Amino acid sequence: MEPIIEYLLQSIIIGIVLNFPLLFVILKKEYLTVPGGTVAGAIATLLIFIISPILWIAFVTFFISSSVISKWRISYKKEILENFAKGTKRDSWQVFSNSFPSIIFGLLYLVIDFFPNLAAGLPNMPLNSPWLFGAFSAIATHTSDTWMTELGIFSPQKPRLITKLSQTVPSGTSGGITLIGTISGIIGSSFTSGIYCCAFSFIYPHEKCILPLFLGMVIIGLGGGLIDSIEGATIQAIYYCEHCLKETEKKSHSCGNTTKLIRGIPFLNNDLVNLTSALLSAFLALFLYILLNINLP
Ligand SMILES: [Zn+2]
Repeated sequence: MEPIIEYLLQSIIIGIVLNFPLLFVILKKEYLTVPGGTVAGAIATLLIFIISPILWIAFVTFFISSSVISKWRISYKKEILENFAKGTKRDSWQVFSNSFPSIIFGLLYLVIDFFPNLAAGLPNMPLNSPWLFGAFSAIATHTSDTWMTELGIFSPQKPRLITKLSQTVPSGTSGGITLIGTISGIIGSSFTSGIYCCAFSFIYPHEKCILPLFLGMVIIGLGGGLIDSIEGATIQAIYYCEHCLKETEKKSHSCGNTTKLIRGIPFLNNDLVNLTSALLSAFLALFLYILLNINLP
């Protein structure tokens, strides 16, 4: 059998078997809205597994940790969360925006770097690819951004607007950042970068490029999370509820009132902001990897 066909068949079968218990947990814990989110989530995780099992570990870690953090101390967050466009469950659009950049970069890695090697019978290079580094960096951005938002809520100090740090804003405002949130973002980004670098150092134990790769992904992941906040403060669609006198990301407020667009681009919602910031991070990571000029067997 062709090695590429063999690889695809094998990873589809193992992917389905591994994702099945995960799907069960997701449904049971109600991390995704049924059924749209679950179908989207199942397709995304299977695709990511086919691209790379290590990328799959990073994606699943991001997904589970973010879902757990989102639900943590939910009663405290509830009032603040009403300003966000979404609740604690992820829907299909959120799954799409959180997986699309890594899937695109991952597919490019398969076609450009992995399959040609496989077909030529060369030794596999499961991690040495700028495209795969980009795919991991997109996940680092989502992890950083989600941890930043979900844990920043607990800051004792009021958030400051990222585009004008002298100005404080209410908790939950798009574009508001806190010290606790930023530190959480660094930890989130380090988590994904750590998964990549552990696997990388396992395959290439004597490589000196591991530290620059680790730090590079941490900074790019955090940077992506901050770009997300800048977009939130500038071009993201923000609405106003005249009944509750509150800013919101929702077109219709939790009180039932239809809100009015007060700033930003109408179609640019939170999902699109997440998607664009992660895509930007993936491209930055791609260029960093090429700049580092890593030559491995
Ligand atoms: Zn309202």
